[in-house]
Amino acid sequence: MIVGVTGGIASGKSTVARAFAALGVPWVDADDVAREVVEPGEPALTEIAGRYGERVLQADGSLNRRALREIVFADEGERRWLESVTHPRIRQRIVAHLERLQAEGAPYVLLVSPLLFESSQSEMADRCLVIDVPESLQIARTASRDDVDDAQARAIVAAQMPRSERLARADDVIDNTGSEADLAAQVAELDRRYRELATS
Ligand code: ATP
Repeated sequence: MIVGVTGGIASGKSTVARAFAALGVPWVDADDVAREVVEPGEPALTEIAGRYGERVLQADGSLNRRALREIVFADEGERRWLESVTHPRIRQRIVAHLERLQAEGAPYVLLVSPLLFESSQSEMADRCLVIDVPESLQIARTASRDDVDDAQARAIVAAQMPRSERLARADDVIDNTGSEADLAAQVAELDRRYRELATS
């Protein structure tokens, strides 16, 4: 069984993943996989460099993310092209990672992805778990963790999927407004249910 875990910026996805891991449940991080598929030597990077040339590469041959981001930010068609190159490879590799973890004996596995719904990665999951906090708390936790001010944090939150839409697509919800101990208790309860579901 695959449980997709998502939530907005600083909602607590990584914290939740660590709490499940403490109970013996492993996870695959979709952001890590997205970085893996454009590492030097990967076919996706060769295609990207073939289309845009040296300007999207650093001196050491690795991807210049900022340069690529500027290109696709300015051009919807280029963004679609980039997604057509990266998304299938990300998906393939996520599946491979999840299958390996399951073969190694995991009771069930988590796919942690900030864009679970937006990139249709939810199709890979049997259930979707949304980490929910009010936007004011997201903004406060983003500003205190990252080097951004309130206005920047607010802009990031505003650019993401609305909280109501995410919640409407959830099978399960963790309310992460409380302490980390509250969070751990909710994770333990869900873990019991997921273990039952995974064996039934
Ligand atoms: P991102 O989308 O940016 O990767 P995330 O959803 O993975 O973030 P975390 O990194 O887990 O979120 O949490 C964001 C910040 O909020 C971290 O600094 C974390 O320590 C803090 N945090 C998470 N949960 C709680 C909590 N219940 N109480 C207090 N602080 C918390």
